Amino acid sequence: MAAIRMVILGRQGSGKGTQSLRLADRYGCVHVSTGDVLRAAVAEGTDLGRQAQEVMDAGGLVGDDIMNGIVGERLAKDDIVHQGVLLDGFPRTPEQATALEHILGELGQELTVAVNLDVPVAEVTQRMMARGRSDDTEDAIARRLGLYEELTAPLLEWFAQRDLLVTVDGLGEESEVFARLEEAIDARMS
Ligand code: AMP
Repeated sequence: MAAIRMVILGRQGSGKGTQSLRLADRYGCVHVSTGDVLRAAVAEGTDLGRQAQEVMDAGGLVGDDIMNGIVGERLAKDDIVHQGVLLDGFPRTPEQATALEHILGELGQELTVAVNLDVPVAEVTQRMMARGRSDDTEDAIARRLGLYEELTAPLLEWFAQRDLLVTVDGLGEESEVFARLEEAIDARMS
């Protein structure tokens, strides 16, 4: 089976993180969460971490140059070249998507699929309120979801134009949603 290279998109609270871990396991690819990479850099106090922390705390986006650099370096590593990758949290803008296309092109690779795990705003808001984290006030949730909508709608369109986008219904039991994801991805691989 050829190594898979996929992107997963979804609102905060859509179950994207959980499903990503299962998908990476199922397809034998490396899970790269750019949020995790940045949080690790912050924890380690590296230059990158210091630059990223303020932006992240404010709920903004780290600059494209930094993000494209991180992903470019990671995708060129042997494990990903051989096993493939599930990108979670990147790209977040059409500019990052164009950079990803370029990075993969340089490596002689192509994206297999971009999966949009779709859970309506009302449902993710309810889920986030229920988990009761300190940064999950109604205002903060609305702000993050607003930013997602603003940036991601054009991104969905970007993938759709390249015939790479598959939307999967993210409502229901975790394993039920996983089965839908698997079916959608397998259909793209065959
Ligand atoms: P996440 O865990 O994906 O929600 O990411 C947490 C935070 O890291 C985001 O709110 C952004 O500040 C930053 N971040 C993660 N991925 C990216 C990206 N592709 N572009 C810009 N900022 C990012």
